[in-house]
Amino acid sequence: MSGLETTVASTCWECSTACGALVSVRDGKVVKVGPNAAHPHSRGAFCVKGIRALPESTYQDSRLRYPLRRIGARGAGGWARVSWDAALDEMADRLAELRARHGPLALAGAVSGAYFSRGAIVALLLRSLGSPNWMINQDLCGGCRAVSDLITGLAIGGAADLDHTNCALLVGRNPAAADPVQWSALKRAKQRGAAIVVIDPLRTQAADLADLWLRPRPGTDAAIGRYDKDFVARWCHGFDALAARAASFPAERAAELSGVPAADIERAAALYAAGPSTFASGHGIDAFSAGVQTFRAFHCLVAISGNLDRAGGNRRVKRPRGFRTYHDLLHDPAFRLPIEVERQTIGADRFPLWAGPDGWQTACHNPSVIYAMLTGKPYPLRALYASGVNIAVTYPDTRRTVEALRGLDFFAVAAHGMNPTAALADIVLPKTTALEEEEISLAPGTCCVNYTAPAVAPQGEARSDLAIARGLIDRLQARGALAGDFLPWPDQRAFNRYLLGDSAIDLESLRAAGYAEFPYELGNFAAQGFKTPTGKLELWSERLAALGLDPLPDYAPPRREREPAAVRERFPLILQTGLREKTYHHSRFREQAWARKVSPDPLLHIHPETAARHFVGDGDWVTVETSSGQGACRMRAEITDRAPLDVLITGMGWWRPEAAGPEFGALDVNVNAALSYGGPWDPITGSPDSRGLPCRLRRA
Ligand code: SF4
Repeated sequence: MSGLETTVASTCWECSTACGALVSVRDGKVVKVGPNAAHPHSRGAFCVKGIRALPESTYQDSRLRYPLRRIGARGAGGWARVSWDAALDEMADRLAELRARHGPLALAGAVSGAYFSRGAIVALLLRSLGSPNWMINQDLCGGCRAVSDLITGLAIGGAADLDHTNCALLVGRNPAAADPVQWSALKRAKQRGAAIVVIDPLRTQAADLADLWLRPRPGTDAAIGRYDKDFVARWCHGFDALAARAASFPAERAAELSGVPAADIERAAALYAAGPSTFASGHGIDAFSAGVQTFRAFHCLVAISGNLDRAGGNRRVKRPRGFRTYHDLLHDPAFRLPIEVERQTIGADRFPLWAGPDGWQTACHNPSVIYAMLTGKPYPLRALYASGVNIAVTYPDTRRTVEALRGLDFFAVAAHGMNPTAALADIVLPKTTALEEEEISLAPGTCCVNYTAPAVAPQGEARSDLAIARGLIDRLQARGALAGDFLPWPDQRAFNRYLLGDSAIDLESLRAAGYAEFPYELGNFAAQGFKTPTGKLELWSERLAALGLDPLPDYAPPRREREPAAVRERFPLILQTGLREKTYHHSRFREQAWARKVSPDPLLHIHPETAARHFVGDGDWVTVETSSGQGACRMRAEITDRAPLDVLITGMGWWRPEAAGPEFGALDVNVNAALSYGGPWDPITGSPDSRGLPCRLRRA
């Protein structure tokens, strides 16, 4: 007889939108996941990934349920089930041995992001071993925005107050695919009569909704540029220098650089100036070699227009007093390695605002880590532990990443299922999913702490990141291979209580509602302060100036325009990657039948004239190569006038579980197979170009 159905209030964290969720459980199994209309941030918005992909990744047959040890050659596909004790003992033995032979710096970690607990947990595990080396994917997603936000002093994250705005300025963002919460709010704003201005080379659904759509040439967004005199005088540093720089970009020059008519630029400026106005940015201006300065241009606009932390503007990230974020944990002196060790973080010498002790999340510069794995420079990097990240797919230059992983002395992966990264590991560990683990997080720019509930017991023997890390630390301690214990919490509950600290929020109230609200005061600049060297919003960045970098936002021509004419001739088109799809999140869910039914193939959006010139028909398979990549990528042509002439637009993250391993199609249908991770890099974050790339197209 089947039991009663119960409902658990939770938060989906399959992506950083973090929607409030209601999880229905019967007989110890999740039977439904849906939106929580009471959640103050998401207000009932939700997406198909939360509804379908989250339960499926928990219960699907291909779920990893037991630890596996490689049998035979690396990547040959032979695996034996082993106990947790055997898996963790082997990991501890190998890590201790390599640490003794090459030193702690030879060990590294990799996670998808620093926004969730697994980022802090893997970083603190590596620090416990004495290594500051851990990798995050934000050099490819969100990192340029975060560093610009930090050095300018705004602290707005990605939050935009669409519900009270008179003008929404969306740049390189299509919330219809990426963020159901923001998409719902944008539609409400439109109904209220707010002006919507979209800057995007692609005619997205947001562009369809817009009052004014500006279509710049890819990579020229920073060329588009009344201020609040009192606010600037009191809170901004470097206004005169910024004004002088801006004077060199009159609307006519911006029009010439971007291809957007000067009258449209002036109209957009007038709409934004009317205020209150909010700026919402997306992947479209992140992750490229001028990403931070492009963001700085928009962030300075937010600062001087007086739209910071006012209703209808851009709210600042605030937290309940006493609450600790994962970012706080990473920078807390109690959890740090000696400064001389952290200075050796790979990439800290070249990108100190990204990597190492003064870096945004203290993580490494990933392309330099891959280089170190392959060459032993600046020092050998011989072991990697990757959790919840599929770097063989998500890092540019797939062939090189695979070669680097293949050459490691030891490689362990924690995952929900087999994928092109796990397939190259020595040990594969089964991770819990967001239905099986407890997580708390701050929703940036809102007055809300979110709670993800362990709604059901883990499938098989899956364990959480913290349980895995704790098991390893105990074993490494017994082997004398620790520099310290930076994860002193016995379980997730103790860890989460530590994060809540002496805030007024407790786990019990979080468990009851799935979230907890806290008082949020707008415009309390004097109390909150600006975390910059001058204590003001830095239009002129003192941190950039001290590093010999341009302290003011500037325009850098897109990659294609910097290439020699011979390269432009051989690669006459422009490639934009990173377009979001509703069915997938980065490389996730490619194994799920429903998602593959909706989105069966990687799509390349091509303008009809470009397609005709290349004899490409709708639905044809085509091959794309870039001027700097070593490989190619096959995709299916979708011919549409939403794409600009001679600009090819695609997503990322494709692989096919049914293709031959260990790559499972990652060298074939994955756009990263056609890209380079070798620079040019953003001078501040080290981000590579993932758009504006010279490329060519042929029928496959
Ligand atoms: S947008 Fe979708 S995947 Fe992301 S948190 Fe919300 S429901 Fe989950």
